[in-house]
Amino acid sequence: MKISIIGTGYVGLVTGTCLAESGNDVICMDINPEKIEKLSAGIIPIHEPGLEELIKRTVAYKRLTFTTDMAQAVKRSNIIFIAVGTPPGENGAADLNYVLKAAGEIGTYMNGYKIIVNKSTVPVGTGDKVKAVIAGKTKHKYDVVSNPEFLKEGAAIEDFMKPDRIVIGAESPRAIKIMRELYSSLIRKGDRILVMDMKSAEMTKYASNAMLATKISFINEMANVCSSLGADIDSVRRGMGYDKRIGFEFLFPGVGYGGSCFPKDVQALVQTAKEQGMDTKMLKAVEAVNERQKAVLSDMIIAHFKQHKGEGSNGNGNGKALAGKTIAVWGLSFKPRTDDMRQAPSIVIINSLLRAGAVVRAHDPVAMDEARKIFKNRIMFAADGYETLRGADGLAVITEWSEFRSPDFRNMKKIMNGAVIFDGRNLYRRGELEKMGFVYYGIGRN
Ligand code: NAD
Repeated sequence: MKISIIGTGYVGLVTGTCLAESGNDVICMDINPEKIEKLSAGIIPIHEPGLEELIKRTVAYKRLTFTTDMAQAVKRSNIIFIAVGTPPGENGAADLNYVLKAAGEIGTYMNGYKIIVNKSTVPVGTGDKVKAVIAGKTKHKYDVVSNPEFLKEGAAIEDFMKPDRIVIGAESPRAIKIMRELYSSLIRKGDRILVMDMKSAEMTKYASNAMLATKISFINEMANVCSSLGADIDSVRRGMGYDKRIGFEFLFPGVGYGGSCFPKDVQALVQTAKEQGMDTKMLKAVEAVNERQKAVLSDMIIAHFKQHKGEGSNGNGNGKALAGKTIAVWGLSFKPRTDDMRQAPSIVIINSLLRAGAVVRAHDPVAMDEARKIFKNRIMFAADGYETLRGADGLAVITEWSEFRSPDFRNMKKIMNGAVIFDGRNLYRRGELEKMGFVYYGIGRN
């Protein structure tokens, strides 16, 4: 099939590449000329495992091309995906400007029957708005379909190629048939294409993300209760997870959720409900717990050094809790295997360490270029995890990259100025570390 993708970001690029890999003829369009120039030159603007290899292969077979030309993208394809951003607007509601602008341009350049598939995460009712905008621009026949995306950054190719389910919100039998054909190669193990009305499809995406965010806030709240009671969240989590009704997935305590989806989607759902006169008490609590959670690690670090004031290195006496202290940070991206820094908890944590007077030395396997745009020269970036530890009074683990899971603790102890580990992801075993002479703090771990 001939497919165009409007918006070549994390979702658009993965969608386009995977559809090209499954044999379709795909063109990815974006308004950002720099991005398209890079892609055309074989430079991949984002880090996503396996993506570069797939792009190279599909480009070589001429099944994947890139353009900034909307007219070309619309005219040559019969299926057009909208995968532009839907960032939060002023009151938290999703900003639909990019989606509706893309829809208007699609309408302007239509030259025959097209299926316009909305992959961006959009509030219930947006599909109808897209329909109306296109209707105002063209006399050609078309169908609008909602097809929300559930991929996870860091495992996006696997998620797209082997989806748990594919949600299609559509009314037109013609569009449903074509969408089924398009996705048939991805669902060879049983029919997991769920066809429903457009509003329900749009809502499915928000409800799914709200559920996942709720699980994270729930376990974080339990972790905080555990630490105040002297219980251990790790044991509690295991005790809960074997119950099949609960399970283990998404029940890891940590430093709060971030990224470009959960925070904005929970906010947008709160706002959508508010517009209907509804007060979504639970979702508001999920958000509030998450905001509070982002402060847990830095509060722990500050409390530790207040308690051990005067110990260790060069206090410069400016009165701030972390004055003269150097904190090493492992992991900056909002989750492992991505360079995405959008709404990353590391931003909140590091800013609060800096406000408390600390010097911060950080390392992330792939997100340092993105992080430099945010922190500029306010923190130091080190070439690897061990390098961050030089002269550090403590280590804060923020993102659970695999390479941070089993480090050489003996070597670390030699490099560090103070042997204290603040484990924001509960990666390590307290007993082992204490035996080696470290002071250990985890989340909800007594
Ligand atoms: P992104 O910011 O990485 O990419 C959006 C792209 O759209 C940008 O490259 C931008 O230049 C381009 N764009 C904006 N307006 C355009 C226009 N009029 N014409 C052509 N291109 C245009 O965003 P993303 O992370 O890929 O997210 C896209 C959508 O998918 C959002 O609604 C998001 O909520 C949703 N989503 C994201 C993820 C994820 O993990 N990132 C997962 C599922 C769903």
